[in-house]
Amino acid sequence: MRVFISVDMEGTAGVVDWAQCIGDGPDALAGRRLLLGEVNAAIDGAAAAGATEFLVNDGHAMMRNLAPEDLHGEATLITGWHRPIDMMEGIDSSFDAAFLVSYHGSMGAELGNMSHSFNPRAVSETRLNGVVVGESVINSLVAAHYGVPVVLVTGDQTGCAETVEVLPNITTAVVKDSITRVAASSLHPRRACAVIREAAERSLKTLERIEPKPFPTPSTLEVHWRTPDMAEMATWVRDVDRTGSRTTAISGSDLLSVYRRFIAAITLTRVVAEEV
Ligand SMILES: [Zn+2]
Repeated sequence: MRVFISVDMEGTAGVVDWAQCIGDGPDALAGRRLLLGEVNAAIDGAAAAGATEFLVNDGHAMMRNLAPEDLHGEATLITGWHRPIDMMEGIDSSFDAAFLVSYHGSMGAELGNMSHSFNPRAVSETRLNGVVVGESVINSLVAAHYGVPVVLVTGDQTGCAETVEVLPNITTAVVKDSITRVAASSLHPRRACAVIREAAERSLKTLERIEPKPFPTPSTLEVHWRTPDMAEMATWVRDVDRTGSRTTAISGSDLLSVYRRFIAAITLTRVVAEEV
């Protein structure tokens, strides 16, 4: 059994503000150790359920947060940024299941510790078919394109609840409760890892219950940008439509194409987002 693991960082127990997950300072290095423990817990749980091959996609910030030699399961690791399929690079139809580890709430959600949707400087809300969603659901579009069931999400209560709203049969592992955008009540790392390990093992026993293609086709991904010039710039990407002064929409039945247009718009708008 092959498992694809997309890894973010803001949903890690004990990591609650940006100093702990951006850059290479001592707080960030400590945050990376906590993240590594949670990723390994997910791998251990999957292995207990019979998984034998693991591809880990490090998808946070500069996308090089995990030490290859410390990964369990002799996992293959995708690191480094500028990738066509971003946090889902590497997934294809050969995988039996996908995990989303250390995910967080969307920018439009209530009470999300470090909530954001891909770029907090540019995006104030993302909606899929009218429902406010975050990175977990948007990344699941790629898994759906390849027919790979997303069976597990770990992180704070907000990120997990948002995911369940759209993917109701997914297994969740809540390791911290958001209090504000820069505060949370976290499980002790050992307990967090135990929760993730158990949930990962259990999730692979639910494969028959999970719809591998859970999204309607066509689907529409709407982005609310922080400024009108960001919305305008997003339309420089083909088939990104302006729907309001600060909103754009991407529609299509090819969910990978929807995702790639979205990532292109996010990448492009960084040019103006860095200036505000
Ligand atoms: Zn992140």
